[in-house]
Amino acid sequence: MATVAKPASTQPIPRIAPREDLNPYRISQIQFDIAAEYLKLDPGLRQILRTPKRVLEVSIPTKMDNGQIKVFTGFRVQHNVARGPAKGGIRYHPAVTLDEVKALAMWMTWKTATVNIPFGGAKGGVICDPKRMSKSELERMTRRFAAEILPIIGPEQDIPAPDVYTDSQTMAWIMDTYSMTKGHSSLGVVTGKPISIGGSEGRNEATARGCVIAVEEACKVKKLSLRGASVAIQGFGNAGSIAAKLFSEKKARVIAISDSRGGVFNSRGIDPLKAMRYKERSGTVVGMPGTSRISNDDLLTMKCDILVPAALENSITLNNADQIKAKIVAEAANGPTTPHADEVLARKGTLVIPDVLANAGGVTVSYFEWVQDLQSFFWSEAEVNAKLDLVMRRAFHEVHETARKHRAHLRTGAYVLAVGRVADATLVRGLFP
Ligand code: NAD
Repeated sequence: MATVAKPASTQPIPRIAPREDLNPYRISQIQFDIAAEYLKLDPGLRQILRTPKRVLEVSIPTKMDNGQIKVFTGFRVQHNVARGPAKGGIRYHPAVTLDEVKALAMWMTWKTATVNIPFGGAKGGVICDPKRMSKSELERMTRRFAAEILPIIGPEQDIPAPDVYTDSQTMAWIMDTYSMTKGHSSLGVVTGKPISIGGSEGRNEATARGCVIAVEEACKVKKLSLRGASVAIQGFGNAGSIAAKLFSEKKARVIAISDSRGGVFNSRGIDPLKAMRYKERSGTVVGMPGTSRISNDDLLTMKCDILVPAALENSITLNNADQIKAKIVAEAANGPTTPHADEVLARKGTLVIPDVLANAGGVTVSYFEWVQDLQSFFWSEAEVNAKLDLVMRRAFHEVHETARKHRAHLRTGAYVLAVGRVADATLVRGLFP
């Protein structure tokens, strides 16, 4: 545990935060080191597990609509495959870096192990600004990216899925590019596909649904009623907007939502369906009638029962952790809380449902999609949701129990469970050659 300084309970939390290392890859390694220390892992095994197995960087020459060529940079990182094929999303964002993709790949390994599905961890990313590209530019870039990473992806090797600013259409293009190259339709090469080409019922809602299930279990721990609880959600995309809809179906009150342009607030509650329609028309939630404007920073520190970061990394840092008022933080996003902020929240008694658990519903239903594709036998939405419910509640209780045993917070509980599972698989397989 050497890398994270634990603030002694007598020490005041500094008003001006010391400089925090916000590099996601180093953060992911600090989180791993904490678990490795709890598990007393052998130093050699630590070296294997704290770095990715394979890193691929590719150039993606793309013809833009004006006839000019633009060369994008993309990555695919496979962190670990000890328990099954690599699995993880593809992100399109101007701020993508190799270190971010490495961190996201490692988090995927722990996530699939936390919910105990037979996958490893991977992630991909392309440095681009999809909001400034036409659909045909995105299609050409995606198909060339798919062709460049083709040697290392496949239904038995590595299975991409959507992430920030990619969606089912992106997956359809990757599936088609892969299939045309192989000479036969390969449904299982990606998940999060449209239903018409082997996508699963319930996949689009799965990340948010899993998050809401985890929050229901956390509410029992905190003796809080979800009905009537106030919820603030940062990020109104796939994870955040659908979580808002599902929270409001559970009669919780969604009082604040935001996107990259800012946030909106109404203490009496915001109708998520109206917000979705408004965002679809205007491109943002900002300006939605019946709401007042707030900043993303204000949203994080506002008075609410449940806070759901559902945007990008490093939302909750030493700069704002001591001002977080929520009783439960459910990490729909990957990596929204830094290790130092984690310690501050733990001291305050905030229950943080870590990303590897809170957003694992997405990869769980991706696993169901892959199973259905391989069997060419498809399930109803009710079947998918019932199986997701079982996986999420079981995982929550295993994580909670592990945390309790080690007198640690839920992230450490999840990591001890997940890293332990991956370490066991690695040891029993032995080292090749
Ligand atoms: P998305 O592209 O559908 O939505 C992202 C949302 O975040 C958008 O509303 C965008 O405006 C907003 N956003 C971007 N920058 C922001 C900022 N600085 N402040 C506030 N909002 C900002 O992406 P998504 O799939 O919903 O992913 C969101 C998070 O959830 C990511 O961390 C992703 O890795 C994680 N996640 C997604 C899935 C999934 O199945 N989609 C699964 C697991 C985890």
